[in-house]
Amino acid sequence: MFRLLKRLVLLLFVLVAIGTAAFYLLYFRRTSLPPAPSHGRAVPAIARLPGLSACWIETGKTFSRFSIGMTAGGILVKHPAGDLLIDAGNSSHFSQEVSVYPFWLRWKLQSLAGQLNPAVPLPEMLRRAGEDPAKLRWAILSHVHLDHAGGLTDLPRLTVLMTREELLFAYDPEAQAKGYVLAAYTTVLPKPSAPTLQFNPKPYEIFDESADLYRDGSVVVVPLRGHTPGSAGIFVNLSPTRRFLYVGDSVDDERGFDERVGKPLLLRDSDNDPALANQIVSKLNQLHEKVPGLAILPAHGRSAYKKFFPAGPLSCVSAQ
Ligand SMILES: [Zn+2]
Repeated sequence: MFRLLKRLVLLLFVLVAIGTAAFYLLYFRRTSLPPAPSHGRAVPAIARLPGLSACWIETGKTFSRFSIGMTAGGILVKHPAGDLLIDAGNSSHFSQEVSVYPFWLRWKLQSLAGQLNPAVPLPEMLRRAGEDPAKLRWAILSHVHLDHAGGLTDLPRLTVLMTREELLFAYDPEAQAKGYVLAAYTTVLPKPSAPTLQFNPKPYEIFDESADLYRDGSVVVVPLRGHTPGSAGIFVNLSPTRRFLYVGDSVDDERGFDERVGKPLLLRDSDNDPALANQIVSKLNQLHEKVPGLAILPAHGRSAYKKFFPAGPLSCVSAQ
């Protein structure tokens, strides 16, 4: 009896050791990246716009009690000239939609992105935040991966702001075959021949191009090409001191831009162009050092959201 118990304890010890080593290698260990070449800053003039606010719309989460907890969904920007949804999280029919893929790919998608499936569909979450989904003016995606675009299929049809390069990626059969982009979702996107977002050669912060969505400096989009060919970052400026940059999956968590480290091994193959993606991480690190008051929100970085939205999911923050 005692020997059996001893063996069981030993087995348990070995399993815990293997689990810890796997967690370390797959998730915790990161590669240090070189600094980005120093870039001058185009400091924006930011006004306080009455009626402007941003709300945390969380539709999915994992390990929410821990600092590594992930979130999914998006951010609603309430603007006097019409509201904007930034990212849409997973579709409420995620499992059905990925069933077109072979077993292993389906299993991978289910065990990674599938963990962030909505408990409550996006339109209902928006209603809970006081938004009528039919009245949204636009949606914009940080990128077109399935865990950011899927929720659009649950919404009434609306204009999705996307560049030609990201649309070409969304419609690319090769990208679709890898599973990160679903052909089914292109039905809610513009055609690559009619893009709805274009950058101007106007510097903004440390970026060379930008697009000012409302032409009032409140929401400014910059390219973050790398994770996907048309990945974009979205600045939301509630006041000169209350601002954030939503960076999609350019970094997975705050460690990326805080410590200037690459993605964990587990998530690395999601980068379409790993070298470019790493350059963006270094650039975000430079921005973080130059503009420490600017919050950087990784799409899935739950702890970063909690700092910007201290009252938690469904709460809104305004200039006041
Ligand atoms: Zn993602």
